[in-house]
Amino acid sequence: MSERPCVLISGASRGIGRAIALRLAADGYAVAGCYASPGEQADKTRAEVAALDVPTHFAPCDVADAAAVEAFIHDAQRRLGPLTAVVNNAGINRDAPLVLMPPADWADVVSTNLTGTWNVCRAAVFGFLKRGGGAVVNMSSVAGIHGNAGQTNYAATKAGIIGLTKSLAKEVASRGIRVNAVAPGFIETDMTTALPERTRNKALERIPMRRYGTPDEVAALVAFLVSAQASYVTGQVFSVDGGITL
Ligand code: NAP
Repeated sequence: MSERPCVLISGASRGIGRAIALRLAADGYAVAGCYASPGEQADKTRAEVAALDVPTHFAPCDVADAAAVEAFIHDAQRRLGPLTAVVNNAGINRDAPLVLMPPADWADVVSTNLTGTWNVCRAAVFGFLKRGGGAVVNMSSVAGIHGNAGQTNYAATKAGIIGLTKSLAKEVASRGIRVNAVAPGFIETDMTTALPERTRNKALERIPMRRYGTPDEVAALVAFLVSAQASYVTGQVFSVDGGITL
């Protein structure tokens, strides 16, 4: 069993979650990573993380399924030791104007992004309370702060994550547990490469830094927030967005 700090990262197979897993492994964390479906991408990321010489536990786990989340955390802690941090990064989008959006696309996005974050917080924070400390970082979005046409479902979940973060931060601050949110703007991942070329170019015009962010730039902020360097920081929302919200 590991005596290192130990982090759970949801959505660790690719994109921002993969970058967070690699960054925290480089910082010395044992890494438990979950994702939606098994496959080459998840295997590749697990191998890259393990190559940094840290213990790992990578497995599929649907964050929307509370029982599956409990089981994943149980297995992860049995293999790696007690969790000291959690990064709720798993997220999906199903974009469409509200009047054209199928109700299933509302429900799926709410289940994964918002209920998923709540499920993981609930399962992990029990252990943090018992052990008297821990750090949570929840992945919001600039869409959750400012809204975005075509993303009523997604933006509602990302705004909900901010309310969850601030409320939980108030509940557990006196027990040594910190809870913060990160709100990325446009970051170069599968989620944004899937956007139509016209939407990508229009977004670029609105970003003062005139480029998309990299997953590593989000991971750097997350690494700070889970670390002891952020020991007096809780209940906050940090944008990493090239200035798009200015
Ligand atoms: P991505 O490349 O699409 O990766 C999504 C990750 O979430 C994958 O690991 C995926 O697993 C996992 N996932 C999806 N549904 C899941 C579920 N039900 N249970 C467990 N894992 C699940 O996304 P990304 O761009 O890196 O985004 C990561 C987070 O940042 C999301 O919360 C997103 O909303 C947020 N964000 C992204 C941007 C951006 O510009 N990219 C901007 C603002 C906020 P599989 O590989 O198995 O599918």
